[in-house]
Amino acid sequence: MVVTSSGIWQMTSTVIASGGSCLVVDPGYFPRELEQIAGSIPKGAAVEALLLTHSHWDHVIGHGRFPGVPVYVSPVLARSVAENGELARQAMAAAREHDARWYIERPWGYAWPGQVRGLDDEGWFNIGDLDLQAFLIPGHAPDCLAVRAGSRLLVGDYLSPCEIPFVEDLAAYRRTLQRLLALLEADIETVVPGHGRPLSVAEALRIAREDLRYLNALARAAESGDAGAAARIELPRAGEVPGMQDHHRDNCQKAGLPI
Ligand SMILES: [Zn+2]
Repeated sequence: MVVTSSGIWQMTSTVIASGGSCLVVDPGYFPRELEQIAGSIPKGAAVEALLLTHSHWDHVIGHGRFPGVPVYVSPVLARSVAENGELARQAMAAAREHDARWYIERPWGYAWPGQVRGLDDEGWFNIGDLDLQAFLIPGHAPDCLAVRAGSRLLVGDYLSPCEIPFVEDLAAYRRTLQRLLALLEADIETVVPGHGRPLSVAEALRIAREDLRYLNALARAAESGDAGAAARIELPRAGEVPGMQDHHRDNCQKAGLPI
C-alpha cells in the first residue's frame, strides 16, 4: 500500500496492489501529483479499479488521469451520477471553481466517469488476490464509503488528525463513529484517513472516541436548545487552525442550533 499526501489539506490517495492489479483510492489532487501516483504503480501492474470514498470535489476530480477504469462508489453516489443529481453536479462545479481560482489546468475536464459501480454495505470486491469490503458510513456526506483491505481500513473524511469532524448529518455521523469503533476493534492495524497521515489503530481509536465525545456534547446542547453551551464546546483538535472555529459553527448549525 502506498499512501501519498496532496499539497491541498493533506488529502490522501492510496494505491493498493495485488497480483499485477491495482486499486487507486481517491486519486488527487493536482495534475502533477496525479502523475506521481501513476508513477508509483508497480511495473507491469495495471490499474484495475478506482474507489472514491465520497463525492467531495477534492476526492473525485483526479479520476480522469485513469480514463476507462471502472470506479467504485457508494450506491448513493452511483445513483446521483446516473441521474445527474445534486451530489454529482455540486462536486464537479466545485472542482471547476477551485481549479479556475488557482489557474489549475486539468486536461480531462469535469465530467463523471462513464462506469460507476455502487457497492452495497459490507459488499465485497477483489483486486488481484485481495478481497476488499465496503462499508457505508454517512454523516460527513450522505455518500461516504469506507473500504477494508486486510488489516487496513480506509475511512475517507473521518478520523482525521488534522481537523475536527465536518458534519452534514449529526445522528448519522455519531452512528458512523460507533460503527468505526467496532470495525477498528476487529483486527485492523492501520487506518488511512482522507486527510492527514496514516494512523495506528490506537491513534484511530483515540480520535474516534474524541470525536464522539465532541459530537455527543453537541447533540446534548442541541437537545436542550442551548446555543451558548454548543459554542463553548472544546474542539477535539486543530483549534488553532484558521477556519476550524467556523467549521464548529457550521456543525452547530447542522445540529439545529442558530449560532
Ligand atoms: Zn469530504
